Amino acid sequence: MIVVKAGGNGNIDVAAVCGDVAELVDGGEPVVLVHGGSHETTRLSTELGHPPRFVTSTSGHTSRFTDRQTLEIFTMAVAGRVNKLLVERLQALGINALGLCGLDGRLLEGKRKSALRIREGDKVKVLRGEYSGIIERVNVGLLKTLLDGGYVPVVAPLAISYKSEGLNVDGDRVAAAIATALRADHVVILSNVPGLLRDMADESSLVTHVSVDEAEEYLHRYARGRMKRKVLGAVEALRDGVGQVIIADGRVQRPIRRALAGEGTVIAARR
Ligand code: ADP
Repeated sequence: MIVVKAGGNGNIDVAAVCGDVAELVDGGEPVVLVHGGSHETTRLSTELGHPPRFVTSTSGHTSRFTDRQTLEIFTMAVAGRVNKLLVERLQALGINALGLCGLDGRLLEGKRKSALRIREGDKVKVLRGEYSGIIERVNVGLLKTLLDGGYVPVVAPLAISYKSEGLNVDGDRVAAAIATALRADHVVILSNVPGLLRDMADESSLVTHVSVDEAEEYLHRYARGRMKRKVLGAVEALRDGVGQVIIADGRVQRPIRRALAGEGTVIAARR
């Protein structure tokens, strides 16, 4: 079982990712494909006259303020365009892909964070009307039904709250939650960097093979911004039974194959 997360920041190379997924599935390997869509959401919200607003929380974490209108645009972008382009490509390769998001069949359920405490200059403000959250439950039965039926699930990063509201959730955490629920052997996280770098300005400073304990240490030492969430998600998934997490370059040809061959930051559970 392999869970693949294709990044949303750079443009996903749909052809490269889907080519590799198709090859794995044809070889008998069950795959779940998770994707992002922040780039597409920013583009669409600007076009629709509701430009994105990025805020910094009091703990220093930057995120998109997801008001109701942004949630709906986010849904159009990720569960609409990004998801369906991946499904279309996989179908063209003869793979029976099925696109869904965490709202569908309550695939990903979690708690809504409806207010954000943010810092603006030296002021602290509370922003209400936020639609984001943390995933707490995965409908693993639904995923197994799809996989057993021969479908390849393609998952967009939306969850459902306990009050049945749509939530914007982080794609890396979606991949980690699904991988944990399915006890996946491998999680491949494709991004716009070769993996975890010791020095952001130097792509040859790549951290290659590490244990989960070392990864936790490196997380604090080297990871900044969004890379923190990737490594943190990896550490959590590995502690919960996932075999191996590989953070790798999504900008290359054959990105999943190369990641599985060990190119990137390979984080292994102690076994
Ligand atoms: P994606 O949308 O492709 O998932 P993200 O923007 O979420 O990508 O995360 C990758 C980003 O993390 C990189 O583009 C880089 O700017 C940032 N980053 C921060 N610290 C590091 C680090 N130590 N090594 C690599 N990338 C890092």
